[in-house]
Amino acid sequence: MSNLLQGKNIVVMGVANERSIAWGITKSLHNAGANLIFTNRQERSYQKLTKLLEKNDIKATLIVSCDVASDESIDKAFGEIKEKVGVIHGLVHAIAFANRDELKGEYADTSREGFLLAQEISAYSLVSVTRAAKELMTEGGSVVTQTYLGAERVIKNYNVMGVAKASLEASVKYLAEDVGKYGIRVNAVSAGPIRTLSAKGVSGFNEKAEIIEEKAPLRQNVDQEQVGDTTLFFLSELSRGITGEILHVDSGYHIIG
Ligand code: NDP
Repeated sequence: MSNLLQGKNIVVMGVANERSIAWGITKSLHNAGANLIFTNRQERSYQKLTKLLEKNDIKATLIVSCDVASDESIDKAFGEIKEKVGVIHGLVHAIAFANRDELKGEYADTSREGFLLAQEISAYSLVSVTRAAKELMTEGGSVVTQTYLGAERVIKNYNVMGVAKASLEASVKYLAEDVGKYGIRVNAVSAGPIRTLSAKGVSGFNEKAEIIEEKAPLRQNVDQEQVGDTTLFFLSELSRGITGEILHVDSGYHIIG
């Protein structure tokens, strides 16, 4: 896997700290020879990312700030990437957000604002960043997002985020059709539960992880590296015939009734 992405410029959105799925992805992409461009929202995430890169001896091609809640911020970020890097070949979208108090109890209690916020940050953001990235993918490209089984089934406490992930997965398919004619592919990895900052915001994380160890065919939880390697597959030529796909990296849990 040492040169699968040699010479390829890949944008990674969503490293908050060393537990982030996007950080596991970063390591896989770096090992495959990619040139990495990062976007952060919070200053705290930027500080963590720069420390992590230094510690792991990874040199970022560029780091830009991007809040997906703002079209202006997205335009500015991708404008800077265009100016300083030019062509990009891949985009990793590992971003989601919902109010913590709506990730427990009953879905029926979701507020209008909470519903719209989860949809905006967790699903619409893929539409807007794919549109922005498309302009820079003049040699074709691959977009990969991160989803979860709660889009397909009712998973306790996942609530408003499950509905946002359903919207994200449908967006993967509609976007795949739109950009396929330009040689751009859009796919999603559906990972099993991984202990990250965002995962801690959903009530009952431990129960979700325990059930994987008990019931999933592989009887073990997945980690950021496994998601990283599958994301690398989607970004590389190895997956050139695949688009609009939702691939489960969950030790096979989704096949169990
Ligand atoms: P993290 O908390 O590590 O990452 C979430 C990221 O989302 C952060 O980097 C955060 O940036 C970013 N983000 C939130 N709001 C915005 C915004 N408005 N603009 C730009 N960035 C924003 O958690 P994970 O690594 O777990 O999450 C990554 C993805 O993986 C999410 O889509 C999540 O739903 C998905 N996923 C997670 C699973 C899990 O069990 N952990 C399982 C399956 C899917 P900042 O910190 O700067 O605010």
